[in-house]
Amino acid sequence: MINYLYQEQNWQSQLSDLIIDPFELLDQLDISSEQLLSGAILASDTFKLRVPRAFVNKMQKADPFDPLLLQVLPHHLELEDHPEFVTDPLGEEEANQLPGVLHKYQSRFLLTLTGACAVHCRYCFRRHFPYQENLPKNNDWPQIQNYIQQHPLINEVILSGGDPLTLTNHKLKIWIERLESLPQVKILRIHSRVPIVIPNRIDEELLSLLENSRLRIIMVVHSNHAAELDDFTCNQLHKLSLRNVTVFNQAVLLKGVNDSAQTLIELSQRLFDARVMPYYLHVLDKVKGAQHFDLESSKVDSLYKEVLAGLPGYLVPKLVREIAGEKNKTPLFGKLTF
Ligand code: SF4
Repeated sequence: MINYLYQEQNWQSQLSDLIIDPFELLDQLDISSEQLLSGAILASDTFKLRVPRAFVNKMQKADPFDPLLLQVLPHHLELEDHPEFVTDPLGEEEANQLPGVLHKYQSRFLLTLTGACAVHCRYCFRRHFPYQENLPKNNDWPQIQNYIQQHPLINEVILSGGDPLTLTNHKLKIWIERLESLPQVKILRIHSRVPIVIPNRIDEELLSLLENSRLRIIMVVHSNHAAELDDFTCNQLHKLSLRNVTVFNQAVLLKGVNDSAQTLIELSQRLFDARVMPYYLHVLDKVKGAQHFDLESSKVDSLYKEVLAGLPGYLVPKLVREIAGEKNKTPLFGKLTF
């Protein structure tokens, strides 16, 4: 279905008019709410449903198994306990050096400026992260600046989730200027799912801000399925590379959503249409509440073999897992024991 309203409505209005009621979501899609078991409503109490209407517009009506819907609709299985699935699967509380600063890797660190996201992805490894206690305030900048200067190997800062593109351009500009003032910082990386779920977020003001920065800008978007990448979204993404932003995609391998080689091949091809290079294909982080998205390691391995055979090398994302405490992501292909 195509609804041009979302191509014209500004991103701020879209962000303030999210669907947060599971019954409204199903109603919009002509799906019977009887399919929503009471456990799903409880799951939504602990991690709220949150989805932009522009993203819902890309879902198929009357299909309860739509791969985009499955990523956002609370599921009763989220409430089941599983010993391997925990609240902080990546040990991020350990790496939390200062409010907003997660320093896990040598040359780069994550700066979380907001706990808000435009969409709540049910598999998110940060779904239990205590953002409210960890956000830097304006007067925390001297401390962060000091931290960067005391770590001369840092040359890259990553703005990460919550989603930095839910912030205003004005606020982003303030932080970009702060980082630009430090000669050791050369690269700014922005991790965001907003360009996929509200493509209008890529507005002229943002493009100009990124294009005119002294920093080399990388945008890592997050798309898991080619159906997320309609023509309008691809055009919006293409604007980034036209303005000197290097654009990559990271995806998460999710049971029921993108666990077929053909789906992954189409995703890479569609990303390339938008001038976005496939970067990472993550296996699921074992976060509490996401166990129903998990895939057997043997299935992952055989899927990836098919993807390798079906795409030119430059369109094959690296299959990785993040392991708490490791100095880099761990490549997985061929390691059936992960
Ligand atoms: S941090 Fe990213 S993956 Fe997690 S809910 Fe927000 S947009 Fe989704």
